[in-house]
Amino acid sequence: MSKILVAGGAGYIGSHTVKELRKQGFDVVVFDNLSTGRREFVRDAELIVGDLEVKDDIRSAFKSQNIAAVLHFASLIQVSESYIHPRKYYTQNLTSSLNLLDEMLEAGVRNFIFSSSAAVYGIPKQIPIPEDHPLDPFNPYGQTKFFVERILQDYDRAYKLKFISLRYFNASGADPDGEMGECHDPETHLIPNILLSVLGRKENLDIFGTDFPTPDGTAIRDYIHVTDLANAHVLALQKLMASPRSEFINLGTNRGYSVKEVIARAEKITGKKVPVREMPKREGDVPVLLASKDKAERLLGWKLRNSEIETIIETAWRWHRK
Ligand code: UDP
Repeated sequence: MSKILVAGGAGYIGSHTVKELRKQGFDVVVFDNLSTGRREFVRDAELIVGDLEVKDDIRSAFKSQNIAAVLHFASLIQVSESYIHPRKYYTQNLTSSLNLLDEMLEAGVRNFIFSSSAAVYGIPKQIPIPEDHPLDPFNPYGQTKFFVERILQDYDRAYKLKFISLRYFNASGADPDGEMGECHDPETHLIPNILLSVLGRKENLDIFGTDFPTPDGTAIRDYIHVTDLANAHVLALQKLMASPRSEFINLGTNRGYSVKEVIARAEKITGKKVPVREMPKREGDVPVLLASKDKAERLLGWKLRNSEIETIIETAWRWHRK
């Protein structure tokens, strides 16, 4: 039976997607260098420890397996770090994608699901953001996602590679069974940082920016539960394999919460006060980011199940407490 190769399948979103793929009966092989991923997150799939920067590692994975499609999650993801070390971001995010695509095409595999980001849009000119919004990323991280999307379009034209590029908004929450969750090092994301501060593992929760043009002055984001993201990947894969056609699709909820609103809900759920400290805004943070989810619903038949903000915080809290 042919398998689905999941690059970065030991990471946060990748591991949740592997679980969902297995539930839907797909045979999965994870390819991960375990630099940020965790071996214990790969529960029900074969794990190949390999590096996307080493073409021989990828080639032997394709040689030893019968691969029908590839999902690519492996990437550096910290916007602030990408400003300080753009070289690292361009090198790793681009070469890993180029190597993977190259070896896929060598092996005759032409179905590809890419983890892209709302960062490709840059400063929103329209809210909620539709997929045909102009692309104008301004941080190096977003540029790397944008460049890979451009490469995918060229490879489609020239080599008939078929892809679905999924543009994530704010991935959050944890596996409702408590098997996996979000744990980056260093942690930069809002919800885990709130929970770490409540648990006393971080002294303060820094609120980055309190003078945005929003009702309470803090930035508004579109938080989407990681299992809803995972489910969208499975639907995208099924769609691509049934009718190969390349697409760009947002994954978000079209609902937003400000930093202060998320904190208030987290205080209610945990029953604890968040030790906040008001700080200047981070470089590149925009006031509001909201996804139009119409295309995902229409094209994939996608339905949100776990993306209520309370469910997101509750599942994350269960995971973090553990
Ligand atoms: N944020 C914050 N404190 C933190 C982490 C994040 O105030 O410790 C804010 C951040 O400025 C943004 C929102 O929370 O407005 C979501 O940030 P996150 O890093 O989770 O995701 P991003 O939107 O940057 O991809």
